[in-house]
Amino acid sequence: MREFTYSSHPSQVVFGTGTLNRLREEVERLGCARALVLTTPHQADLADRAGEVLGPLAAGRFTGAAMHTPVEVTEKALGVAKEAGADCLVAVGGGSTTGLAKALAVRTGLPQIVVPTTYAGSEATPVLGETENGVKTTRSAPGIRPGTVLYDVDLTLGLPVPLSVTSGINAMAHAVEALYAPQANPVTDELALRAVRLMASALPRIVADPADREARAQALEAAWLAGTCLGTVGMGLHHKLCHTLGGSFGLPHAETHTVVLPYAMAYNAPAAPDAMRRIAEALGAPDAPTAVYDLVTSLGGPTSLAALGLAEGDLARAAELATATPYPTPREVTREGVAALLRDAWSGGRPAPADGLADTLHTLTRQVVASFDGAADARVRELLTGLVRRLHGFVADHDLTEDEWWYAIGFLTRAGQLSSDTRQEFVLLSDTLGVSSAVDLLTNSRAAGSTPSAVLGPFYVEGPPALDNGADLAEGQPGTPLHVSVRITDLDGEPLPGAVADVWQSNEDGFYDVQLPDLDGPALRGRFRADDEGRVAFRTILPSEYPIPDDGPVGQMLNAVGRHPYRAPHLHFMITAPGRRRLVTQLFVAGGSYIDGDTVFGVKDALVVDFPVHDGPEGGPADGLSRSLDYTFRLAPAHTPGEQS
Ligand code: NAD
Repeated sequence: MREFTYSSHPSQVVFGTGTLNRLREEVERLGCARALVLTTPHQADLADRAGEVLGPLAAGRFTGAAMHTPVEVTEKALGVAKEAGADCLVAVGGGSTTGLAKALAVRTGLPQIVVPTTYAGSEATPVLGETENGVKTTRSAPGIRPGTVLYDVDLTLGLPVPLSVTSGINAMAHAVEALYAPQANPVTDELALRAVRLMASALPRIVADPADREARAQALEAAWLAGTCLGTVGMGLHHKLCHTLGGSFGLPHAETHTVVLPYAMAYNAPAAPDAMRRIAEALGAPDAPTAVYDLVTSLGGPTSLAALGLAEGDLARAAELATATPYPTPREVTREGVAALLRDAWSGGRPAPADGLADTLHTLTRQVVASFDGAADARVRELLTGLVRRLHGFVADHDLTEDEWWYAIGFLTRAGQLSSDTRQEFVLLSDTLGVSSAVDLLTNSRAAGSTPSAVLGPFYVEGPPALDNGADLAEGQPGTPLHVSVRITDLDGEPLPGAVADVWQSNEDGFYDVQLPDLDGPALRGRFRADDEGRVAFRTILPSEYPIPDDGPVGQMLNAVGRHPYRAPHLHFMITAPGRRRLVTQLFVAGGSYIDGDTVFGVKDALVVDFPVHDGPEGGPADGLSRSLDYTFRLAPAHTPGEQS
């Protein structure tokens, strides 16, 4: 049997469209004749409209309401109220405006009529949060609760979509916490579940069409019901965290609720299985916290505290503040638990589904992540933390079996065993998974105007032989003669004399020297120094397409997924010059094979270059074709302005 105490609070609630027009009637119903209209500077036009409806009953207006109810604003408004001889307060706006009405009411005893234009729900509660000297304190008293609420759906049609989403989730948070509050009872349970259902169904429609009146009506009804829950039962961990983050770290109210809710739910889920089951049912999903997270994501709402501007260094202090005083919430509140919760909310990943197994896995991940806390190098800690989170997430998402994991370990072991000074299976793995190109993209693509970079590949060898300008790189190897003449300049086209260019390439059959054990010494690779005009010239042969070594585990992987091992024909360059950023790149032969299907995803359009065909001598054999390459490399300064060092 469930035991409970329930008290209801009389108030007049008018719900509909165009209800703002009933303002005068409501003021008269209270026996008042001098209304002070309140709102924010942003909504001053609403004060005009309210004034028109009130006619002679409008005694004055104050349009300075602000978030978190600063006491100095209240004092100013108090002066205006006195001067106007106000006998009632009319608040038209969101939670901030309602807060101001409550603050005035508690000081003057004046009755309040609130016309909410967001889904914050403050109009249904006896709670007032005020800020003085940067400190937010909360008090609760029956006289604070507004006696009259006019819900006018029309006034919410223009609520911007991002605020509609976050304000809607703010309302949902009241309903969620009501379901596991110690004072929960059958009445608030039903109100809360209806609020969750209505809001979850309304928000996607509002995002699709902000002027959808039916959806707006549903959301506003949900806000009323959720606010009523908030005003009837106590709130738990989620509200405490949001209060701390808003009050002490200045985070925006509704956005913070939106980010924190899935994580606070995930934290409480093991200790509130029944409430979570009912919320999940109301959301039509198997798991409540992830369903809320997925809803927010699908609505384009914020999902991480980092994105709201909370510094990572503030997390520990926030955990300390939020756990300083005890308060009821289903699961025991510990500093470590709340710290982990906040860290998850800061990072913004999807919370793990809350069955018992997932919870244990989550705990394991947290323990491993916490084991990096002592790392002296913050970047090491960050990278290991991210890697472990993703690896654990990968294992969980795909329900990895032991056999699969052992296969993966065997695969990596074989890759290691095969690697040597001249064979780099891990580079091949990184290349064929596109990781090398991804790193290259992030590392080297930020210098506008410079020649694009490309992956280094597995065949670079340190210290290539120094060659003179004009030398023959091919040294008699068979192939189509190629005359290369490149210029090395800065971003303005000024030559960089003395720049060093390492060049390496495959032979006519597609092999690099390091793949040919019978070859004596380096071939088709060399180091040139640019002349006074920044020019490097040499003779060689046209590179051809080639398969990356596919006799190892990487080749097996390609085979298993039906991928070919071929690279498009290209010349490699690594260019350095004093004061310039090193350029590692490749020039691809336009029209060559596999340009559109390079197996290491290394081709960039800007690096596909014409190698014109020449008939006859042109320095090549008198009886055949030759090709040429003329190209200018532009090197970025070593430190690009605005770049992170
Ligand atoms: P808000 O009232 O600060 O409004 C945010 C902005 O949106 C303001 O500029 C406002 O003028 C504008 N706005 C409001 N409605 C609009 C509309 N329909 N169209 C266009 N613009 C509109 O934000 P909020 O989230 O409603 O309220 C947050 C405040 O309410 C916080 O201070 C919070 O602490 C308080 N609050 C208190 C309680 C309580 O029970 N005491 C409950 C919920 C929220």
